[in-house]
Formats: sequence, structure tokens, C-alpha cells
Amino acid sequence: MNDFSLPLAFTQRIQQQLGDEANSFFEALNTNPSVSIRLNPNKASGVLLNEKVDWCDKATYLNERPVFTLDPRFHAGAYYVQEASSMFLEEVLKQSCDLNASLKLLDLCAAPGGKSTLLQSLISNESLLVCNEVIKTRVNVLSENITKWGAVNTAVTNNDPKDFQRLPEYFDVIVADAPCSGSGLFRKDPDAINEWSVDNVVLCSQRQQRILADIIPALKPGGLLIYSTCSYSESENETIADWLLNENEFETVQIKLDDDWGIVETQSVNKKAFGYRFYPDKIKGEGFFIAAFRKKGDCNNSEKIKTKSRQELISKSQLQYLNNWIQDTNAMAFFKWKDDIIAFPESLLNEISILQSALYIKKAGVNIGSIIRDELIPSHELAVSTLIKKDINSVSWELESALQYLRHQTIPETILERGWLMVKFGGLSLGFLKSMPNRINNYYPREWRILNK
Ligand code: SAM
Repeated sequence: MNDFSLPLAFTQRIQQQLGDEANSFFEALNTNPSVSIRLNPNKASGVLLNEKVDWCDKATYLNERPVFTLDPRFHAGAYYVQEASSMFLEEVLKQSCDLNASLKLLDLCAAPGGKSTLLQSLISNESLLVCNEVIKTRVNVLSENITKWGAVNTAVTNNDPKDFQRLPEYFDVIVADAPCSGSGLFRKDPDAINEWSVDNVVLCSQRQQRILADIIPALKPGGLLIYSTCSYSESENETIADWLLNENEFETVQIKLDDDWGIVETQSVNKKAFGYRFYPDKIKGEGFFIAAFRKKGDCNNSEKIKTKSRQELISKSQLQYLNNWIQDTNAMAFFKWKDDIIAFPESLLNEISILQSALYIKKAGVNIGSIIRDELIPSHELAVSTLIKKDINSVSWELESALQYLRHQTIPETILERGWLMVKFGGLSLGFLKSMPNRINNYYPREWRILNK
């Protein structure tokens, strides 16, 4: 693409914003976007961090964009393909909260799950991450990515921001990666150029303010609100920060930067709220804005939300069927959810009841499967979770066979062993199959199968 295809109003705004530096910005838009991935700390991918992303521990740039769909490790949740600028959320979080504590976090605008998987990698096992997406059609992809990430201390919800008002002062951290006019993505996604207009920027800014106003009551006093967009527009970024501080409920949080990173610190006009801007001529990544705010007041830690409902735990006799499948049942609670069994951290069990009383929960914890005729029928969630036993019966396949499994094509390998088997690639669990005398059943979810050849 070239800068002549950019909307005139956008070009003028950038010239006004960047002055002498506008040309180098427009030149950068004519270069290729970088490719970066972030590794799952719970899954050994074998990927080397050759060129690390400065502000994210487990992330690396790649020299070129591979066909990720044809890499079984991608389907195993060994890494997440994520734009490097947005990984700065890690640095913001590390500098502004105690990640060893037991926290309740909300990723409010979560699909497809980039920030959620990053947040999950940073929090303690005693913390709970709620990943929410308001748009129903986008919840499935979020659930899929959270499932592949494999962690047990998460829940996926499908709610409007204002629904969270049913959980007053509940969360320690809320991340609002707001829907925006998308100018920061022009280089990566040229369709965003056609969708950009001055009117849309105004609409986005109004919507961002509405989303934040709706969610503020759910944040604890002393809690952290992290706001981000992939827009360069001041009205979607610093103006929103100013508005937040104007309401008098928040104070700005400054983040220490390394000069070498090329990140630009800004301050809003009226209230001098700090914000962090990412320009493609200064950093290796796309356009991004992020700012953090502390809600004023002290958290008195009194449990404000009471719930009478409790999850129905499975019986001891049922628990014995799980022992062959689960690495460590300690610190886990297993409860019934319709016909299935869900594993959830025991210390967070009450939180599930609280969430259930207020929200529509699409999924929580790890679905283990169901017990039918004294046998566990394991779910795919278990296969790709951190709970699965390491020494479970398995077959280890090379690339072509692994891809055939992921495509739901005929299993190419001869399998002598009978029963449930884990299909592995490079030591990573891909999913189950069941080997019977006359046939082999593939239990990789059909809706996730690779469709291209
Ligand atoms: N955080 C995601 C990630 O890192 O993968 C990207 C989020 S994207 C920038 C913004 C999300 O907000 C989209 O998934 C979109 O569906 C959702 N959204 C759209 N309108 C919304 C609204 N009114 N309230 C809350 N979320 C909304």
C-alpha cells in the first residue's frame, strides 16, 4: 500500500500530530508489518526467542509469516500470534500491580483472545481471569483460544459491559481493549482504511466513553483500569483519559520506559493523564495506545457479593475415574455442569457461583468430560489443558500425520494399542483418538479442523 490511498482527513491529522516526523510515519506505513508470536509458558513449543520483543518476556519476532494453520503447535496452543505493540500490556501490568497476589481480572473486550492469553500467562494460579466478549458470534473464537491456552483459572462470558454492574467493586484489574476506528492497523489490515472516517472516530470515542462508564462500578477502589486502542486519534485516546480523570474517580499511572524501546509517552491536555503511543516508524509493531488508571479509595476487602448457590461437586467414587487422567487433583474442585465435569481451582469455586448469578458463562475452568458407564469420556479441553497427566497413553506423530489428524482425514498410521490415546506432535498434546479393533475414532473437535489442504 502507499500513503496516497490514506483518507485525506487522516493524513492531515497525522501531520498535525507528528509535525516533522509525519513523513517517516507515512514511509513506515509502506513497509511490511512485522510478525510476532508469544509463547505459552505452560507448553514447551521448542520455538527459540531469536529476536525478543523488548517489553514481553516470552515473545519473539519471526523473520517471515509462516502458514500458521499448517503448524500443529499453533493448534496445540503452544503460542499465540500477536502483534508486538499490544504485548506492552505485560509491562504495564508488571509495573502497576502485584502479580503474585490472588487477583480477579476482567478482560472486557476479549475476542479473539490476544490480551486474555497474555493476562493468563502473567497471573498467579490463585487468580481468576474473566474473558468477556459482548458479540455472540465472536465468543466461539475466544473460547477456542482460551481452551487451547489450557489454563484452569479462566472463565469466558458473553455479556454487555453494563451487565458487570451486577458485580459492584468486584475486580482488581479491568482491561478495556476498546473497539476503535482502527487506524493503527492500516498497514496490517488495509480494509481498515476504507472503514475509517472522521464520523466513525467520533462514534468510536462516544462508544469508548460509554463502555468505560458502564464498567467502572465493577472495579474495586484501589483497582487498576487499563484502557487501550489501536487508533492514533486523540479523541479515542488522550481525550478519553482526560474524561476518566475528570470524573475524579481515577488517578493516572505512569509507566517507566526504556529509551531504546521507541515508545512515546503522552499526556492529556487537561488532566495530564499519561498514555503510551506506538508508531510503526519508532517501534517494530503496529499503531497502539495504552494507559493505566488507579481507582481512588481503599479496598476494604469486605466481600460485597454474597451468593447462596453452590456448585454440585462430584462424588468420591466419581473422582476415582479422573485419577488416570489428571496430573494432580489437589487444589482442584470438580463439579457438574449439565452432563459434564468441570475442573476449577478449589480456592476460586465461590467465584464461579458469583459470576453465574450475574453473567452468562460460556465456559469456565477445564471441561474434563463425562462419566458414562464407569468410564470417563474425556473432552478435548482436557487434552489440551495443563491438567492432563504427562504419561497418558499416546502416539507421537510427525508433521504430515499430525496434520491429517487435525484435518479429520483418514488416520495414516497403524495403531496397535487399543483404547483412548493422546495424539502428540513435538511433545505437545493435539487431542484424543480412540483405537478400536475395527476402527479409529478421531476426537479432535470437528468445528476446529483444518479446512485448507
Ligand atoms: N482484546 C482483543 C485481543 O487482544 O485479542 C481484541 C479486542 S478488539 C480491539 C475489541 C473487541 O470489543 C471486539 O472483540 C469487539 O467485538 C468488542 N466490542 C464491540 N463493541 C463492543 C461494546 N459496545 N462493548 C464491549 N465490547 C465491544
